[in-house]
Amino acid sequence: MTVFSNFFRRLFHKPPPVERVSLAEVSFLADDSDAMLTCDQVFELIDLYAERAERGEDVAHLMPLVAAHLELCPDCREHYEALERVLQAE
Ligand SMILES: [Zn+2]
Repeated sequence: MTVFSNFFRRLFHKPPPVERVSLAEVSFLADDSDAMLTCDQVFELIDLYAERAERGEDVAHLMPLVAAHLELCPDCREHYEALERVLQAE
């Protein structure tokens, strides 16, 4: 059982889709076992997250830590919504 899957279970009460977890997310967790992403970490991933969401991918499952952070952090959510608007305008 990895730290990530424990974390995911705590958040979503089910096992993670391990095969689809990106290396970026796992490496963030390796540094901090009780990880929530920091705003800086979310900032690095948010472009990718917004692009994948825009393509209709299930980002809540593909990038659950980013999704969890956006739930909790109004600043990052604002940034994400601004990105969404840019992507939709393209
Ligand atoms: Zn944040």
